[in-house]
Amino acid sequence: MDNAQLQNIRSQFPILDRTVYNKPLVYLDNTATSQTPKRVVDAIDASYFHTKANVHRGVFSISQEATDLMEQTRCRVRDYINASSEQEVIFTRGTTEAINLVAASWGGTFLHDGDEIILTVMEHHANIVPWQLLRNRVKFTIKVVPINEKGELDIEAYRNMFTERTRLVSFTHVSNVLGTVNPVKEMTAYAHRQGAVVMVDGAQAVPHMKVDVRDLDVDFYAFSSHKMYGPTGVGILYGKKDLLEAMPPYQGGGEMISHVSFNGTTFAELPFKFEAGTPDFVDIAAFPRALDFINEIGMDNIAAHEQELLDYTTARMISEIPGVRIFGTAPHKSAVISFLLGDAHHYDTGMLLDKLGVAVRTGHHCAQPLMQALGVEGTVRASFAVYNTREEADKFIEALKKVNSILNRI
Ligand code: PLP
Repeated sequence: MDNAQLQNIRSQFPILDRTVYNKPLVYLDNTATSQTPKRVVDAIDASYFHTKANVHRGVFSISQEATDLMEQTRCRVRDYINASSEQEVIFTRGTTEAINLVAASWGGTFLHDGDEIILTVMEHHANIVPWQLLRNRVKFTIKVVPINEKGELDIEAYRNMFTERTRLVSFTHVSNVLGTVNPVKEMTAYAHRQGAVVMVDGAQAVPHMKVDVRDLDVDFYAFSSHKMYGPTGVGILYGKKDLLEAMPPYQGGGEMISHVSFNGTTFAELPFKFEAGTPDFVDIAAFPRALDFINEIGMDNIAAHEQELLDYTTARMISEIPGVRIFGTAPHKSAVISFLLGDAHHYDTGMLLDKLGVAVRTGHHCAQPLMQALGVEGTVRASFAVYNTREEADKFIEALKKVNSILNRI
C-alpha cells in the first residue's frame, strides 16, 4: 500500500488526528475495537435525522425505508460471508450474544447429560462461559484442546478428543491474544466426520481476512461489526438453515412471533425467530458502509498491509528490545503482538505507553485460561488495523525502549 493510499485511508478516521498527553495518538488496540470511518458515522446520522422509525410492521413510508435499510444489510452480510440465504444471517448485539444464543438454544436442546463438547485453551471468555452456564443445567463434559509453544492448537490432541459422545466443537478462528489463525476448514471437516456440530468464533478473523462460511462448511459462525470498522451494537450469527430451523427461540418478545395468545404462541420464520424486540436498526443500517470501506481497499490489500506491519514490528522488537517476551509465534498469525517487557508488570507498561501516546491493551484479554497456560497473569497487546503506519510502528518501538529503560533499567 503506497503512502498516498494510506493517507487517504487515515483521513477517513478523524480520531487518528487527536493527541493524548500532547502526543499524536498511536492507536494499537484494534483487536478490542477498531476505529470507525466517517462514512459509517454519517450513515448513523442520516438514519437518526431522516429515516428513524421502528422496523417491520410499519405501513408508513419511513418505517418501510428503515426496514429496507436493515434488510439490505442482511443481504450484504449474506453475500459478504457467502451464506446461502439471508435467513441464515441473524442480527445480535455482538459475538458474545451470538455464542450465547447458540449455547442456550442449540446447546439447551441438543446437548444431554453425558455428552461431550470440545473447546480450546485459547478461547475468549465469550466462548467458554456460555457453555459453562449451560453445564449448570445439562451435565456434559467440556474437553479443552491445548496449544504448543508457538501458540498453535495441538491438532493431534484435538483429533484424539473425539468419542461417540462428542456433539459439538466450538473454537476461535483467530486468537485475540496469540494471533494464531486456526485451520478452521480442516478442523471442521474432521469434526463433521465424527458427527459433531461446529461453531466458530470469527470475531478476530472477519476484520482481517476473507471468510466464506460455505467454503469453511462451519455450522455456526459469529462476529462483531465494531471490530471491522462498523458501528457498535451489531453482531452477526451465521447458522445453517436446517440447524436454525430445528432450534427454539433464544429470547421471547415482539418481532419473533407469528401469533400470540395466552393458550400458546407460534414463532416467526427465520431469521426473525431469533430477533426478539427492537433491533439496533440504526447501526445495522450503517454497517454496509464499513463493508464498502473494506471492499474499496480490498481484503487482500488490508491483510498484506497488516502482515507487513506485524513482521516489521516483531522483528524490531526482537532485535531492539532486550528482555522482550512475545507470546504467540505461529507462522500463520494475524497482526496481534502479545508481549511482556522482562518481568515488568503489563499494567505499568501499558500506562507508561499511554503517557507516550501509544494505546495498547493490558491484562488477561478475556482469556484467563490461556494466561494460565502461558504461566502469566496478563500481557501487553498491540494490534494493527489497515490505517496503522510504519511510522506508528516506529513510535511504538521508540516508546517501548523508553518504557523498558524505566521499568527494567535497560
Ligand atoms: N471472541 C473473540 C475472539 C474476541 O476477541 C472478542 C472480543 O474481543 C469476543 C469474542 C467478544 O466480542 P464482543 O465483545 O464484540 O461480543
